[in-house]
Amino acid sequence: MTDAILVLNAGSSSIKFAAFPAEGSDEALLSGGVERIGAQAQLSISTGERAGVAAPDHPSALTLVADRVAEHLHGGHIHAVCHRIVHGGAQFSTPIPLDDAALTALDDLIPLAPLHLPHGLQGVRAAQALYPDAAQIACFDTAFHSAKPWLHDSFALPQSYYDEGIRRYGFHGLSCESILRTLRAEGYPVDTRRIAIAHLGNGCSVTAVKHGVGHASSMGFSTLDGLVMGTRCGYLDPGVILYWLNQGKTAAEIEDILYHRSGLLGVSGLSNDMRDLTASTDPSAQRAVEVFVSRVVEEVCRLAGTMGGLDAVVFCGGIGENARDIRERITAGLGFLPGPSGAGPEILVRETREEHEIMLEARAVMSAASGP
Ligand code: ADP
Repeated sequence: MTDAILVLNAGSSSIKFAAFPAEGSDEALLSGGVERIGAQAQLSISTGERAGVAAPDHPSALTLVADRVAEHLHGGHIHAVCHRIVHGGAQFSTPIPLDDAALTALDDLIPLAPLHLPHGLQGVRAAQALYPDAAQIACFDTAFHSAKPWLHDSFALPQSYYDEGIRRYGFHGLSCESILRTLRAEGYPVDTRRIAIAHLGNGCSVTAVKHGVGHASSMGFSTLDGLVMGTRCGYLDPGVILYWLNQGKTAAEIEDILYHRSGLLGVSGLSNDMRDLTASTDPSAQRAVEVFVSRVVEEVCRLAGTMGGLDAVVFCGGIGENARDIRERITAGLGFLPGPSGAGPEILVRETREEHEIMLEARAVMSAASGP
């Protein structure tokens, strides 16, 4: 029997999970997830199990995950369920135990992240029903960015909108924390360096980290801003949205274009998957890759400006870790910047371990809650 901490990462059409020992080793006991929740759900587990499953919604997908975890733990107890929550607003800047008051406060933040936050909160409520005795803990993707200066937190809008919560929150914070933890463990001098963390996956962002603190981000109020992503547009002149509204497009239609039909998919007209595009000789695929690379270079340069220089770029995420040719093109584009050894910043590639990071943060919350 093994007592465990269960980490859940609920996206719009998927749930990833990892079960870790409640204490001691930080190696996952079991991990996996359910993808394409809805009509064609697919379960995959680190034991090698892969199967089509009936999971029409998130709670049913979570039930399948819970079954596999229970089987694997042979009756071991789940001490805590730790949730990746995309948005903590201006209010939540550290991991928290989720009680009713916190959940109500998070419900109030749904308008800030209407496409993402409901899945996370639905996951929390489903986990409460499945594991009534377990602590529920939230770790926020925005939290890492909460120490950044006002200058990089604000838009040039009337101050009342800032006060209302229209701010440059920044996302992928758990990925950044995981990368910094790895660099620190290697003895890398994070606290004296100006670093750009380029998280390039389906969602993409660059985070400027100055002397170990989140300083500025390519992502802003929503997860749309900044880089070209799989299906999201990245930065866009807000005049385009006004034009569409004046043309009679609805908010839902515009949302669909910006979140689901743009980015690599929109520019190429072929695929949102970088592997497909780099393998293709179609000129539209090459254009999509070109605009992707260019935007990363542009955004890293902008963020270097916010830090007064740049010492290192860390690549992570599916593209950042695996697509060597994309990394080389970005690195070449940054070669004109002064760096520690002359030409360009130092280039690092590291694996981001978000579930592992959530587990470590949750263990810290639990040990703080149980007192000395
Ligand atoms: P998510 O943001 O959903 O966690 P990932 O971090 O897994 O996504 O990144 C998915 C992206 O990584 C896809 O565009 C995929 O094509 C890309 N990718 C994964 N492996 C490679 C590779 N070997 N070469 C190029 N791109 C890759």
